[in-house]
Amino acid sequence: MPIRAILTDIEGTTSSISFVKDVLFPYARRALPGFVAARGREPNVRKWLDAVAMEHGGVCQDSVVVEVLQGWIDEDRKHTALKALQGMIWADGYNSADFTSHMYPDAAPALRQWKDAGLRLYVYSSGSVPAQRLLFGHSDAGDLTELFSGFFDTEVGGKREAASYERIRESIGLAGDEILFLSDVVEELDAAREAGLETVLIDRREDYPQPREGDATHDHPRATSFDQIEL
Ligand SMILES: [Mg+2]
Repeated sequence: MPIRAILTDIEGTTSSISFVKDVLFPYARRALPGFVAARGREPNVRKWLDAVAMEHGGVCQDSVVVEVLQGWIDEDRKHTALKALQGMIWADGYNSADFTSHMYPDAAPALRQWKDAGLRLYVYSSGSVPAQRLLFGHSDAGDLTELFSGFFDTEVGGKREAASYERIRESIGLAGDEILFLSDVVEELDAAREAGLETVLIDRREDYPQPREGDATHDHPRATSFDQIEL
């Protein structure tokens, strides 16, 4: 069957791993105390701070809650409260143009070309859907959100589980072999293939100085940039 939809990962695929690790996470860590001081009374912020406080035996000082959250950022913990608060902090950062998200130069042109050719585009990333929308809305290549027909995060399940890709396939409403999944992580591609999707390993030198070749590709077709992807 011809490919009718592209499902793409973000980190290491459209964008550098270091953007998230070296820009986004440190920004959230630094901005957290000021954000809590400025917006901690807003109900949609307060509820998450209270949830963290409750989990820590009912600590009542925001400064302690901030320290707990910063510890979670350091541990890369995927906690709902942390994700929600980080999302709001990043929204402030993007909206005040403190930074734009990194896009590899070949990514946006290829996505546009596929879209123009009639393919539907989707994102699947471990970052929350609001964070994904922000990232593509404020990228080095401009606002790319209009290109996408849908966004998926770990609400559908983990990225290394075949069931997640089955859920995505059902939601998109296409056969597995009509969907091409792009990722830099072979275990994610293995799970997608198990669910019947087509796959391409994105093996960018900037993120992976050592090329993944031979057995390391797990027999997934491999491309070092989006230009090399043949549909
Ligand atoms: Mg990735």
